[in-house]
Amino acid sequence: MGIKSQWFMQWVLLAVLVFIGAKSTSQIFYNNKGTSESIGPVNNGKIQNSYLLPYSGKNYRYFSPFSYYLLGRAYVHSTVYATVLDGYKICESRCDGTTFRVMECSNKKGGSMFPHRTHQNGTSVDFMTPLMKKGNQHKFFDRIGIFRYALNFDKDGELNLNKKVSIDYENMARHILAMEEAARSNGMYIKKVIFKIDLKDNLFATASGKQLQRSGIYFAQSLPKSIDNLHDDHYHIDFEFL
Ligand SMILES: [Zn+2]
Repeated sequence: MGIKSQWFMQWVLLAVLVFIGAKSTSQIFYNNKGTSESIGPVNNGKIQNSYLLPYSGKNYRYFSPFSYYLLGRAYVHSTVYATVLDGYKICESRCDGTTFRVMECSNKKGGSMFPHRTHQNGTSVDFMTPLMKKGNQHKFFDRIGIFRYALNFDKDGELNLNKKVSIDYENMARHILAMEEAARSNGMYIKKVIFKIDLKDNLFATASGKQLQRSGIYFAQSLPKSIDNLHDDHYHIDFEFL
């Protein structure tokens, strides 16, 4: 590489780093305070004074630094913030020591967020399906960032890339029950869960899954194929005020 192109590459690298730094600053120095206000529905709304979820806690982490710092997509309503954190607190003692991952939420001010159709008013949260291998939590595929959204599972919940890895339905059910309990104690409830239609029977077949089914928490009953296929590596939850 010539001196000139080396010089050019250094400037490009510097520009990229400055861009990343400037974009991330908005999240790094964000201060949660006051109460949020969601305006309009999940598919055509916005949010004022949103709260930024922590990047990580004792038993949970956000799934992607790119999504969190650069895109700024981990914002929620202040009451959803309290709910999610309380839900994870409940899971600390009930979920076999599972470490959970939060996926995309909303932009700081809400509004449309490609490719999601909803996630517009700070009350939608995507949660990563916990995975297991030989009875233990398997975290390798939890660390692939935004590519996680591209994983596919068969009708039994086994990962197409590696059939020994499958969805941990029991802890997934416990997690949803914990989020519902936390939501209720904060004056909210789970309005809707979107999870792949074919996988729901497996979820409801586990001990906590049975409890989940009895709880009456609403699961989407039918979905367009394109939407259905996306909701196996994660499940989508819309929270709503009571
Ligand atoms: Zn979603």
